[in-house]
Amino acid sequence: NVRVRFAPSPTGFVHIGSLRTALYNYLFAKHAGGEYILRVEDTDRTRLVDGAIENMLNAMKWAGVNHTEGVMLDENGNVTQKGEYGPYIQSERLDIYQKYIKELLDSGKAYYCFCTKERLDAVREQQKEAGETPRYDGHCRDLTPEEVQAKIDAGEPYVIRLRLPEDHKITFTDLVRGDMEFNTNDLDDQVLIKTDGFPTYHFAVVVDDHLMKITHIIRGEEWVSSTPKHVYLYEAFGWEKPVFVHLPNILNTEKKKLSKRQGDVAVEDFKKKGYLPEGLVNYVALVGWSPEDNQEIFSMEELEKAFSIERVSKSGGVFDTEKLNWVNHHYMKEADDAVLAELCMPYLVEAGYIAEDEKEAKMDLVKEIVSAVKEKLHYAKEITDHVSIFFGDKFEIETEEGMEFLKLEHIPTLFDALREKIEAAENFDADSNFAILKSIQKEYKIKGKNLYMGSRIMLTGQMHGPDIPKVMEVLGKENCLRRLDYVKA
Ligand code: GLU
Repeated sequence: NVRVRFAPSPTGFVHIGSLRTALYNYLFAKHAGGEYILRVEDTDRTRLVDGAIENMLNAMKWAGVNHTEGVMLDENGNVTQKGEYGPYIQSERLDIYQKYIKELLDSGKAYYCFCTKERLDAVREQQKEAGETPRYDGHCRDLTPEEVQAKIDAGEPYVIRLRLPEDHKITFTDLVRGDMEFNTNDLDDQVLIKTDGFPTYHFAVVVDDHLMKITHIIRGEEWVSSTPKHVYLYEAFGWEKPVFVHLPNILNTEKKKLSKRQGDVAVEDFKKKGYLPEGLVNYVALVGWSPEDNQEIFSMEELEKAFSIERVSKSGGVFDTEKLNWVNHHYMKEADDAVLAELCMPYLVEAGYIAEDEKEAKMDLVKEIVSAVKEKLHYAKEITDHVSIFFGDKFEIETEEGMEFLKLEHIPTLFDALREKIEAAENFDADSNFAILKSIQKEYKIKGKNLYMGSRIMLTGQMHGPDIPKVMEVLGKENCLRRLDYVKA
């Protein structure tokens, strides 16, 4: 029975790479009919950030990457835990780690180390000068039990280290990278318990994955070099090791690791810009995984069916914002106008087009606007680039070209015809407005660009934009008349 986990450390924002790791775990579990668990790894007390757990859980919920076991939010948005292998927050499992570290100490596979930071730094410096890879020199490996006890009694701070055997081969299979082989001669006697009594990531992760019956560990490639230490721990305990999967890094378009300095990398950044979760998740699924038949648009259900680790690439996946925009645009076009209006409203308020207390009253208007411009939107925040034509009854003629256009010979005739027909109109929906333009064409022989661009400039000041009958509908009859009079004056 497949059981996988996403095990974030709550250190603040949720990197897009974390979303992808969570998503692949989720998809792998769904595909196999298994369980997807979320565990919080908060043993590094120096990196904790207030509210980070809630933040991360909210991001996952927003993205629709939902788990049924582990740490989650209740109906009121408070952190809670569910499942029979809990607690799922590592800082609540300290007694468990104590029990297992004792087992390793008793069997001699771990040892107390009293080296001070100063000593460790000095050793490291010497090794570097000698051109060696810095590693612990084994100073405390062979202290006698009596020496250890005396130091503990004297209150000397200590850590507990893993005792790696010399020249011991460690192998494991990675489903993306194939067979991996390491030698303990190249590895350090890893710290398992820190001076503050907390376990290190390396120790806690192994104990928890074992106790939580995790079958596959799917995580970022930055953990590959830690895996041999973990594998040795499984051996030391006599536990069966899980299957490992290390996902390639997410790269930017310059093929460098995607980092915060280059702009948007957090799930929250994309949410703030008004991307749809379906679009972001769909795109992120494709960064490092290639479906069999080059399909690009996937619903979550389709992803669950199609996903397989075999098609995860070994080399980094490139995060291309243009491609993301293309995918998200697809979902914007498909989305219900009501949904888009909700999504776009905050940006219109922020840009000052709509007052905070008009939001309710203007929702229908925004729905109309959104339906007129959604062809142009990659994400909701872009709405503010396309709506100036819909607001106010005064506007500037945008370009010199537009000004010139208004000097053409047919313009006065077009103006009078438009003014008269709009005034007389009983219906003012897009279809009726289209009929108005058609009738002008028929009666006055004004057509094509002369008719459509002419009307557009008179009504909006711009030479291009959404379908003009639709724009007229959104503006409404009264405003169209006011605008015409304004242009004339
Ligand atoms: N807590 C680790 C992280 O923040 C998890 C690594 C793993 O999945 O083993 O990335």
